[in-house]
Amino acid sequence: MYQEKEHVQCLIIGSGPAGYTAAIYAARADLKPVLYTGIVPGGQLTQTTDVENFPGYPEGIMGPAMMEDFRKQAERFGTQIRFGYATSVDFSQAPHKVVIDEIKTITADTVIIATGATAKWLGLPSEQKYNGFGVSACAVCDGFFFKNQEVAIVGAGDTAAEEATYLAKLCSKVHMLVRRDEFRASKAMQRRVLNTANIVIHYNTETQEIVGDGLNVTGIRVVNNKTQEEKVIDVSGFFVAIGHKPNTDIFKGWLDMDETGYLITKSDSTQTNIEGVFACGDAQDKIFRQAVTAAGTGCMAALEAERYLAAKEYETVI
Ligand SMILES: Cc1cc2nc3c(=O)[nH]c(=O)nc-3n(C[C@H](O)[C@H](O)[C@H](O)COP(=O)(O)OP(=O)(O)OC[C@H]3O[C@@H](n4cnc5c(N)ncnc54)[C@H](O)[C@@H]3O)c2cc1C
Repeated sequence: MYQEKEHVQCLIIGSGPAGYTAAIYAARADLKPVLYTGIVPGGQLTQTTDVENFPGYPEGIMGPAMMEDFRKQAERFGTQIRFGYATSVDFSQAPHKVVIDEIKTITADTVIIATGATAKWLGLPSEQKYNGFGVSACAVCDGFFFKNQEVAIVGAGDTAAEEATYLAKLCSKVHMLVRRDEFRASKAMQRRVLNTANIVIHYNTETQEIVGDGLNVTGIRVVNNKTQEEKVIDVSGFFVAIGHKPNTDIFKGWLDMDETGYLITKSDSTQTNIEGVFACGDAQDKIFRQAVTAAGTGCMAALEAERYLAAKEYETVI
């Protein structure tokens, strides 16, 4: 089969806050970056409504509009932004090979991976309907919108426990829905939840439907999976905290990753186990998962790529 080929100095995979920030820095360092957007140009923030915690937007901004600003800024300095999906890689030797849409092979002196993560959802049609209108997968991002209101959170792991206690500081009451008769969270996190007065735990409870008035969430219909008893809990916010999946499958076997698939980078660095390959944003951050931290590590990745190339050039001169 005919294979298109191209060589670039700096290839960026992903167009969320990490990828676009890496592009801004790489373009300004004259690395002539080429960025592939993947199937979600703009990344996770294009799937939300208001973003109020990104510095520089005192009135807040809609997620898709903010990502348009990121794109324009990356383009202004000469980044080539292309629609395409990285389907496989070969990091066995430099230059590194990345195949786009199974047809085009790009060789790159440096690769910046900014493929992000995907929040896991329950898969209910009503969850999709009210996503951004009371349904959220990020308590730190959206908890503030529900100040002094009653909310529910689904999940039983450490993240769910942490997000429940975060919400409990802002909201009047937090209903925590746990599918089994016990938590998966560590004992320490469980203690924090159990000692928080305004968290009510509903064990053996599954969400059947997010109830709303057509515009916003007004409640959730839940069922006890032991007694089959159904009830509606009145809440204005519904948080899903059942985990994230980093978009890193294509790097399996090449890059070090943890058991969930988060890429492992060197301490204080975005350097992966392969020289010249850097990872930033939610693909390597399972702790903070914020746009501003993704942008921060995107900046680090571009600076490290630039330093790596400069060191290589120096090596060939002497
Ligand atoms: C509903 C919701 C609301 C949120 N609200 C906020 C908020 O208010 N404030 C905040 O700070 N954070 C918020 N977040 C978190 C924030 O969106 C993420 O932390 C941030 O987007 C991570 O940026 P990223 O660049 O690492 O990855 P992402 O935004 O996940 O972008 C990943 C990019 O990689 C691309 N990609 C993936 N695989 C491939 C591939 N194989 N080839 C090419 N491209 C690929 C995708 O198309 C996408 O463009 C929210 C998240 C969600 C889900």
